[in-house]
Amino acid sequence: MLHSKLPDVGLSIFSKMSHLAAQHEAVNLSQGFPSFDCDERLFELVHHHMQGGCNQYAPMTGVPELRHQIARKANLLYDSDLDADTHVNITAGATQAVFTIISTVIRPGDEVIVIDPAFDCYRPAIALQGGVVVPYSLTAPDFRVEWEQFAELMSPRTRLIILNTPHNPTGMVMNADDMTALSDLLRGTDILLLSDEVYEHMVFDGKRHESVLRYPELWERSFAVFSMGKTFHVTGWKVGYCIAPETLMREFRKVHQYNVFSVNTPVQYALADYMSDEATWRGISDMYQQKRDQFVAQLTGTNLVPLPCEGTYFILADYSALSDAPDEAYAEWLTREVGVAAIPISVFYGDRRDDRILRFCFAKTTEELNAAGRRLAKLLS
Ligand code: GLN
Repeated sequence: MLHSKLPDVGLSIFSKMSHLAAQHEAVNLSQGFPSFDCDERLFELVHHHMQGGCNQYAPMTGVPELRHQIARKANLLYDSDLDADTHVNITAGATQAVFTIISTVIRPGDEVIVIDPAFDCYRPAIALQGGVVVPYSLTAPDFRVEWEQFAELMSPRTRLIILNTPHNPTGMVMNADDMTALSDLLRGTDILLLSDEVYEHMVFDGKRHESVLRYPELWERSFAVFSMGKTFHVTGWKVGYCIAPETLMREFRKVHQYNVFSVNTPVQYALADYMSDEATWRGISDMYQQKRDQFVAQLTGTNLVPLPCEGTYFILADYSALSDAPDEAYAEWLTREVGVAAIPISVFYGDRRDDRILRFCFAKTTEELNAAGRRLAKLLS
C-alpha cells in the first residue's frame, strides 16, 4: 500500500548498538552521549523558568535571550559579526537543523558532496528531497581531505557540500589550510555549505576549531549547525541551532516554521542564563581531552590500536590484529562476549568500506572508562 521513500533505511546503528549494550549489560561506548549529568545549576534554571510561567510556545526563531547569548559566544570565539535576530535560529537538535537545511536547498537531481565516513542523518534527508549524493571518501589512518581530488567531484549540478569538523566518527579536525583550500575552490560558484560543527567545544592538543564563521567567503554561503546537547551534556533535551546569513536564514525559517514551529521554551531560557557565564563552555575541551587520554592509556598493551583523535568525543581503534571479521560482526561480538559496545564505521560509508575499525565514545565517567578498560585489557592483550 505504501511504496517506501527510504527502502534501504532500517533502525539506526546507534539505536541498534545501544539496545544490544543494554541487553548484554555491556559498557556502552557506542552511541554518542555523555553518561554523566549536566551541571546541577542548569536543572535549577529550567525549574525556575518552568515555575516562572515560561511554558507556552517560544517564538518561531527561538527565545531572543538565547539567540543573543549564542551570537555573543560565536562572535567571541570566531571573530564573526553575527546579529542575533537575523542570523540565529533555535532548532529541536542539530539533526532537525540538518534536515531543515537540506529541505530548504535541495531539489530533485541536485548533487550534494558528502564526506564519507558521514554521520548517518545526511543521506536519508538528501534522498527525501530527490537529491543525489556524491561521496568523497576519507581513508585511515589520518582521514584528511585531498582538496585537488575533492575538486574533481564538483560539477554544475553541485548544490551543497556537507562539511563536518570536528569530524564524527573519525575525530579529524579541519585546519586553516583546509578552510582556505575550500574557500579557493568555491570562489565564483553558487555552491552552498552545510557545516556541521556540533563538536566545536571538543578540540584537543591546543588545536583550534575552524568554524566557517571565521572565513567571510565561506560564511556568505553557509548554514552552520551546532548542538546544546553535545556542549552541555544534555543530548536528550534536543536543542540545537542554525547560524546563516540573512538571505539563507530567511529561507530556512520558511521550512522550520512548518515542520517544527518552535522549541521547548523553559529550556531555552535556562540555557540563555547558563551560557552567559563563559566558564560553562570554556573548559569543555580540557575535560574531554583527559577522558581521551585515559581511554588511550587503557588500550596500551592491547592489540586494539587507537588512531589519532584531534577532536569530538569519539576515538577510532583498529582491531585488524585481533580478527578479520567484518566490523559489524566484530562490534556485536565485542558487545556480547567482552562487554564493551562500540560502533562499526563501515555503516558511515556509502560503499560500506570496511577497514576493521570501530568507534568508541569516551564521554563516560572515569569509572565506566575504567570498567571498559579492564574488560578490553583482559581479552585483547
Ligand atoms: N551523534 C551521536 C553519535 O554519533 C548519536 C546520535 C543519534 O543517536 N542519532 O553517536
